[in-house]
Amino acid sequence: MNELESSHMVDRNVELAEEILCLKRQRGAVILAHNYQRGEVQDLADFVGDSLELSQNASEIEAQVIVFCGVHFMAETAAILCPDKRVLLPDINAGCPMANMITAESLIAKKGEFPDATVVCYINSSADVKAESDVCCTSANAVKVIESLHTDKVLFVPDQYLGHYISTKIDKEMILWPGFCPTHVRILPEDIVYLKSEHPDAKVIVHPECRPEVIALADEVLSTGGMCGFAKQTDAKVIIVGTEVGIIRRLSKENPDKKFIAASQKAVCPNMKRITPEKTLWALQDMAPEVRVTEEIRVRAKRAVDKMLDIGRVDQELASLS
Ligand code: SF4
Repeated sequence: MNELESSHMVDRNVELAEEILCLKRQRGAVILAHNYQRGEVQDLADFVGDSLELSQNASEIEAQVIVFCGVHFMAETAAILCPDKRVLLPDINAGCPMANMITAESLIAKKGEFPDATVVCYINSSADVKAESDVCCTSANAVKVIESLHTDKVLFVPDQYLGHYISTKIDKEMILWPGFCPTHVRILPEDIVYLKSEHPDAKVIVHPECRPEVIALADEVLSTGGMCGFAKQTDAKVIIVGTEVGIIRRLSKENPDKKFIAASQKAVCPNMKRITPEKTLWALQDMAPEVRVTEEIRVRAKRAVDKMLDIGRVDQELASLS
């Protein structure tokens, strides 16, 4: 893009942001955006965060309309938690390939094989799958959630790599569904080894959706929310970041004195990038596409999500007492 084109683009984004702000007020809406969203979408949001932060936010929000700049399961989770609100997903085709690696039917069949296992589902799953699960977790709270369960056997779905990481932290039998994130598996151990050789003083932080060989090379294994917290408190000046590249913008914005290097430029989630400022504006204009969950599924899925949020609340209360 040449200088003239890039200045037109900036002007257009400013215009769009003004239109969105105005319409957002008229509609009584809030915009939530995941850390992997495009920078220009993150800039429009009232709140940017990881799946846990966004679920907590959705459950506490007063606005009547939530524009969810993320992927389908995230908007569904907001719809599960807030049945009285309208939840808009600016591109209805923004799905998650990992969430699509399991269906309610296939989970029911697996539960039949392990009737004594507690089913824990990663939040990256459909409402139908959550409805068949005992409790949800996110990458930020997975170890705590599973540790708190009174069971020795866990059927963990759908991310085998997050499941494998948890199994190295706890003393329970874990049966892992063979799903994976096609974006995070693009980060390879050799990417980390090469970047470490170029930046020997750098800290390496990676997401638990990465392959075990990548996790083995990391200084810290963190959710994207955890990465933002780590970046603020570390003394390291250079940080190699093993997750979707969209997080680099937020990290750099919040920590201008530090350098963040994406572990792999190939770690781009095309579904997250489907959301644009234009589509966000159209969603507010049309009040569509709306994500809905049938009441029967919603009530059952909410039980699993609430159980996760309750474990988090008890944890916060205990922390405030200590
Ligand atoms: S980054 Fe991976 S897990 Fe997240 S939405 Fe994209 S495909 Fe799904």
